[in-house]
Amino acid sequence: MDPKMNPTILVVEDEPAIQDLIQMNLEMGGYRVLVKGSAEDALKTVQLELPDLALLDWMLPGMSGIDLTRKLRGDSRTKTLPIILLTARGEEEDKLRGLETGADDYMVKPFSLRELEARIKAVLRRRAPQLTEDLIEYHGLKLDPASHKVTGKGITLQMGPTEFRLLHFFMTHLDRVYSRTQLLDMVWGDHVFIEERTVDVHIRRLRSALAPSGHDAFVHTVRGSGYRFSKDS
Ligand code: CA
Repeated sequence: MDPKMNPTILVVEDEPAIQDLIQMNLEMGGYRVLVKGSAEDALKTVQLELPDLALLDWMLPGMSGIDLTRKLRGDSRTKTLPIILLTARGEEEDKLRGLETGADDYMVKPFSLRELEARIKAVLRRRAPQLTEDLIEYHGLKLDPASHKVTGKGITLQMGPTEFRLLHFFMTHLDRVYSRTQLLDMVWGDHVFIEERTVDVHIRRLRSALAPSGHDAFVHTVRGSGYRFSKDS
């Protein structure tokens, strides 16, 4: 299965007009959008597919957006999920400002859609740099997300879309060990229906794609743990 190419945003909002407005605009901006009307439905959704970012309305029927944020932060699978809270002007806004909610950012309704997209981009850049289009360079290895080009010491390196995304993730998350499950969650976005050995297959392909410039040596297998990307062994 190919990894998702566009960031997926989970929108949890109970007002249909706002749901539609946000969905339409984010889709035009190139995002994949999952819309849920309640926190309970949102929790079921994230068990099946981990989104790249969640936009949560504070006032929801049943569990509130704040309680949903706490719940997501308390679960190891979703504890680093980027979250933006949406709130009505007034009392909720004051509470949000003074409260340690665990959200990355919040926006007060009514907000401009341009501002929303700017905030989404900023949060993704901070929390999930592998989803942005910034050019990355690391010890002679260059990756350009905009043109999908990779070069090593000036040599063009050919690779498939999954290897590209895997490399993009590694180059934005250097020197740390990631388990196969974590890589599936963060690179494929969905660990439920894919077997862990799929990761090994794509690691092998990534290594051969990087071999012409010698950068395959940066992909380290950490026995019993997973993989690490680094110039240091
Ligand atoms: Ca609401």
